Amino acid sequence: MESLLQSMRQTDVLIVGAGPTGLALRLELERLGIAVVQVDKHAAGLNTSRAAVIHARTLEVLEPCGVVPALLSKGIEVPDFRVREDERVLLHIGFDEIPSRYRYALMCPQNQTEAILHAELEARGAIIERPAEFLSATESPDGLIAQLGLSGERKASLLTRWIVGCDGSSSKVREQAGIPFVGDDYAEQFILADVHMRWPLSRREVSLFFSSDGLMVVAPLPEPDGASRDRYRIVATVPSAPAVPVIEDIETLLRERSPRMATPQIDVLVWSSSFHLQHRIASQVFKHRTLLCGDAAHVHSPAGGQGMNTGIQDAVALAPRLAQALRYGNLTGLTEWAEQRRQVASDVIRMTHAMTRMATPGSSFERALRDAALGLVGSIPFLQHKLAARIAELGN
Ligand SMILES: Cc1cc2nc3c(=O)[nH]c(=O)nc-3n(C[C@H](O)[C@H](O)[C@H](O)COP(=O)(O)OP(=O)(O)OC[C@H]3O[C@@H](n4cnc5c(N)ncnc54)[C@H](O)[C@@H]3O)c2cc1C
Repeated sequence: MESLLQSMRQTDVLIVGAGPTGLALRLELERLGIAVVQVDKHAAGLNTSRAAVIHARTLEVLEPCGVVPALLSKGIEVPDFRVREDERVLLHIGFDEIPSRYRYALMCPQNQTEAILHAELEARGAIIERPAEFLSATESPDGLIAQLGLSGERKASLLTRWIVGCDGSSSKVREQAGIPFVGDDYAEQFILADVHMRWPLSRREVSLFFSSDGLMVVAPLPEPDGASRDRYRIVATVPSAPAVPVIEDIETLLRERSPRMATPQIDVLVWSSSFHLQHRIASQVFKHRTLLCGDAAHVHSPAGGQGMNTGIQDAVALAPRLAQALRYGNLTGLTEWAEQRRQVASDVIRMTHAMTRMATPGSSFERALRDAALGLVGSIPFLQHKLAARIAELGN
């Protein structure tokens, strides 16, 4: 079958990638009536749960796209984060007083979030070209000529005025534009698992356990039908992890890092994974006719569940500025967007790095200092509210 890309010659915007960031950008650009071609190198979206938290600010910015009712129907509302060490609560972060209509974190697996964004695009008749891989871009007097690899080793060229790289952490768009990705690798690895288990804490809480072995997060997840039963997400830092952790690995983590909570009993391991993580930021997110959003622009620790949220917000904030540049040739909005989003990404990297490091203090003195600092934040409502609003990304 001939791909639309083989007959098409030009567009205003080429979006590379159809993860949550690319889907959110496409929805906003469609709404603003901008001509877009969107490609993804995979024949279908990944069907794994990955990012599981949607914060208040993300729900707010997605309202105009019309997807929030579906997200709310599939997610579960969690109004409390608690930082714990053994049985002790070191800090309670309550979202019930944040200045938003959504006074909670919404737990919703990433594949579900992507399916909802995708369904809305389909309802608007928008097509994603896949599999279609962005290979390279060269400059021409009228824009950029993108080379795309299609299935069966066929190729296509597309003249575009703008390219937006929403193509994840190994972004080819970023590489082609010669933009460095500055930062470092975490020494430790992350384990991730979705399980059905008996768990003694409330399902209205995300628990962050600090322990000398590392950080562990236990968060309730909805069932695919949106119901709240006994499904949980577990994320933990470990010195080295098996490629696919098994039930015993997860039970050991629960036993070691929530020692007095319960004898952990996992009934079903739905999905597990492990990965190396980095904290990196693109040195520019706007260079000539190239823009970067989401993981292509920044990656960091999953502590606080900020990754996908920041990416979607990059995209939604970009859309009107890009429309302005296309319609009036005015690039001021894009320059401002780039400055603001790099600042947001730097702040997110700093906060998630601090949360990850705070979990594993080097000495008992550092631990005492940490506990005192957390105790102080928890005892001053102003600071507690500020932190809740920051995690909900309401300052952005
Ligand atoms: C195992 C795992 C667990 C995670 N857990 C969490 C979590 O708990 N909390 C959290 O906040 N975040 C988590 N993340 C991170 C989160 O998934 C990302 O922040 C989010 O997916 C970023 O969205 P994105 O659209 O920017 O990039 P991606 O989701 O990476 O999407 C990029 C898209 O671009 C496509 N693409 C790439 N290269 C090309 C090319 N050359 N041409 C065409 N298409 C291309 C890919 O196929 C993909 O569809 C996790 C990630 C992983 C891998």
